[in-house]
Amino acid sequence: MPKQQSQEYLSNLRHSCAHLLAAAVMELWPNAKRAIGPSIENGFYFDFDFGNTKISEADFPKIEKKMHELAKTWKNFERHELNSQEAKKEYPNNPYKHEMIDEFSEQGKKKVSFYKSGAYTDLCRGGHIDNPDKALKYFKLLSVAGAYWRGSEKNQMLTRIWGLNWSFSCFPRVSARDSLCCCQKEL
Ligand SMILES: [Zn+2]
Repeated sequence: MPKQQSQEYLSNLRHSCAHLLAAAVMELWPNAKRAIGPSIENGFYFDFDFGNTKISEADFPKIEKKMHELAKTWKNFERHELNSQEAKKEYPNNPYKHEMIDEFSEQGKKKVSFYKSGAYTDLCRGGHIDNPDKALKYFKLLSVAGAYWRGSEKNQMLTRIWGLNWSFSCFPRVSARDSLCCCQKEL
């Protein structure tokens, strides 16, 4: 199987695209608070706390435009580590990231890793692609809905934005509606 179509590659591609979504959102809504952004089957999502701002599918074209614009400046994912105090300063008033930093650092015992691409940095344990400027082109935002932090209704309701993301070989043949069928073929 060619490297660009392996399960691991697709998973890293889609998670990298979640970084790109968050970078675009933070440019457009600098007061948004970031939570998590994993890859999932056929794509990715990212959870945000937008405060009182309501995000809808009508916002997708401008987010996607910003994602394409930023992707051109992303040559790689560069890793660095911070201790938990330094790491928390990266996210003022963000209880979600602070909770994750406590967890990843084992309550401050270990350093945590960050990845920087272009001007955007985020706490992350890794699994990205090389050359994001070339690989992150074939994505589409799909839907937006509420999602509780950590999946518990006792927690804050966040805004989850889902996207689809293909490798080059898949994209030219499909629309967002056909993506499931196509990506099953791709795998
Ligand atoms: Zn990451």
